[in-house]
Amino acid sequence: MGFEKFLEMKRKTKGMINIDPIQTGGILTPAARKMLEEWGDGYSVCDFCKGRLDEIRTPPIYEFVHEVLPEFIGAEVVRITCGAREAKFMVIHSLAKPGDWIIADSNAHYTTYVAAERTGARVREVETTGYPEFRVVEEAYEDAIREIRARGERVALLLLTWPDGNYGNLPDAKKVAKIAEENDIPFLLNAAYAIGRMPVSMKKIGADFIVGSGHKSMAACAPVGVLGMKREWENVVLRTSERFKNKEVEMLGCTVRGAPIITLMASFPAVAERVKHWEEQVEKARWFSGEMERLGIKQLGEKPHRHDLMQFESERLYEISKHRKEGGFFLYKELKKRGIWGIKPGVTRRFKLSTFAASREELKLVLRAFEEILSKG
Ligand SMILES: *Cc1c(COP(=O)(O)O)cnc(C)c1O
Repeated sequence: MGFEKFLEMKRKTKGMINIDPIQTGGILTPAARKMLEEWGDGYSVCDFCKGRLDEIRTPPIYEFVHEVLPEFIGAEVVRITCGAREAKFMVIHSLAKPGDWIIADSNAHYTTYVAAERTGARVREVETTGYPEFRVVEEAYEDAIREIRARGERVALLLLTWPDGNYGNLPDAKKVAKIAEENDIPFLLNAAYAIGRMPVSMKKIGADFIVGSGHKSMAACAPVGVLGMKREWENVVLRTSERFKNKEVEMLGCTVRGAPIITLMASFPAVAERVKHWEEQVEKARWFSGEMERLGIKQLGEKPHRHDLMQFESERLYEISKHRKEGGFFLYKELKKRGIWGIKPGVTRRFKLSTFAASREELKLVLRAFEEILSKG
């Protein structure tokens, strides 16, 4: 077996209509694509580094991290991380001791659980209203705190996923922030699907921490994320090494030391602009959802919906899959044949998609595809 295949790798999904929730907000801008070529070499951003990534002035990382991003997300202190999960881990690892509790919504991303596990912290889930809307019951954070404290155990952090990656629900984050404040517990807002898509302000919400994902929602190449916090947490989460005085321990000194941070910066002007048009995205998502329901495909999660990520349910597609030789893969294949990318291979009864990157014209093609697939049976 030779290595030629490594020289011939092609992106097979290039040019297709992309409705994959994890990909629609991470598509590079033309400017970022060009920069990727310019800055692709290893530690390219470290040409003029004096010891800390966030203090590099050429390229202007310092300005981006300390002036531009704090304003953009309403945080007092910001750092670049390798992703939303790494940012969550840094916070949990700094605040929780093994055995402590993190209270999180039950729509939380798996990385919340894994980040807690890596620290040795336990996760207490706060329930949702269940099928079909799966709304987080914000008041239930209160009950969870009381229950844990009654046992003499410690709650290290409240965490809310806003929106979550299953249904695209946007719970009342201010309500959770208030509960956090009243109980003197720090509050982390997981905005992996928000920062870079919609206007977000950690300060207005009243959270202590906020995390975002560059490759999920800020038109950057992976892996890159952002961590914002109130100044009072700086000494806790960004504590420096005893031996290497300018190196922050949770960052292992430096995080994104190459091309991804450059794409994040190069896409930023377009990202800052696109969040101003978020209402149009919401309208587009609602229109699409309405059209799907007209085809008999039910939208789960909050209604009316307030995000481009949606989960749909169709018993009819599931029934069809039983008679097809490809089984559950038929839907994926039928869509791919029509140039539509992003429905997970194998799912039919319930599937997620995002309307963020596709235009209305493209989404009409998606709707027509579903209509044909349903009528063909
Ligand atoms: C995608 C996602 C993550 C993980 O983001 P990374 O930047 O890849 O770590 C975390 N939380 C939620 C809610 C997500 O949707």
